Amino acid sequence: MKRRLTPAPRPTPRAPRRRAFGAADAAALAPLLSRLDATLDRAARLAADPVELPRRYTSPADQEVAGLLAACLAYGRADHFKPILTRLLDQLGGSPAAAVDAIAAALGAQPATSVGGPEQAALLARFSWFRYRFNRPADLAALLAAIGHQRAAHGSLGARFAALFAGAGGGPGALRPALAAFAAELRAAPPVAALLEGRGPRGLRHLLPDAAGPGAAKRWNLYLRWMVRGPDAVDLGAWPGLPRAALLMPLDTHIQRVARRLGLTHRSAAGWRTAEEITAALRLVDPADPVRYDFALCHLGMSGACPPRLTPAACAACPLVSACRCASAPAGPRRRPAPRTGRARTR
Ligand code: SF4
Repeated sequence: MKRRLTPAPRPTPRAPRRRAFGAADAAALAPLLSRLDATLDRAARLAADPVELPRRYTSPADQEVAGLLAACLAYGRADHFKPILTRLLDQLGGSPAAAVDAIAAALGAQPATSVGGPEQAALLARFSWFRYRFNRPADLAALLAAIGHQRAAHGSLGARFAALFAGAGGGPGALRPALAAFAAELRAAPPVAALLEGRGPRGLRHLLPDAAGPGAAKRWNLYLRWMVRGPDAVDLGAWPGLPRAALLMPLDTHIQRVARRLGLTHRSAAGWRTAEEITAALRLVDPADPVRYDFALCHLGMSGACPPRLTPAACAACPLVSACRCASAPAGPRRRPAPRTGRARTR
């Protein structure tokens, strides 16, 4: 009688080890990032980026106000929110800082709790056209009044943020509490309550999110990058006293996808810790300026040059290919699929 042979058990395949990003990786990546940045079609990419609009202004006062409005509205697709932001800035005239200062002064002449006063009604009527996804005219009116109030109380938004940052100890660890306090003060500014009467706080909270919450606070970190870095071909440099080294990468779906492919992070959660891990890796590339390549890396994803579904042609044309851990090979054995990072959206 023949014995039936049972096949020998196959060895369980080991999961590939995820190698941490180290100094040797940073040394290899640094010249490639520099080349990516140098070869970027900056004019075309600026036209697709919200920073194009605050870059219209030359004074730090106008840049910090226009920049905050742009950052607050920079959710969803850029081709959807930029026309609304353009209309808003056009309506505010040549100086958005003077416009919000005038709004705060006019409302300040009324009692803080005055509901339905003529100044509130005029302000709401002035922006009655405004609608963008979760936000309505009362949210925008409250935001403009709050910005004007904080500028009147502290001289500038930059001065107030610098004081909160210093009060939290300075350095990278101070960024999150300072941002949370900065946003909380704006949401609680005296003119806000009367303007949101009947509307509620949710819309304004969406415009001014809590950096201490579960997300990566992308819009706040984008605003800080614009204000603190530069002035250069992208960023504004309106708040030069703050250290670039303390900035955090503004984490969106494009940065997360490209960062995972480059091995800057293995995390899939789009939260503050992931932004910290990516920033820590880029600090090995440039300790004094870890968010230096945010614009170039983000637009590598936004432009479709590093698409969610990779093709050999995309990787062959990419300046980062020799340092990329997920580059799509033109032929040969199958590679691991690239990590999935969710729906593509524009910054
Ligand atoms: S080599 Fe390919 S996967 Fe890697 S960053 Fe470039 S386009 Fe993206």
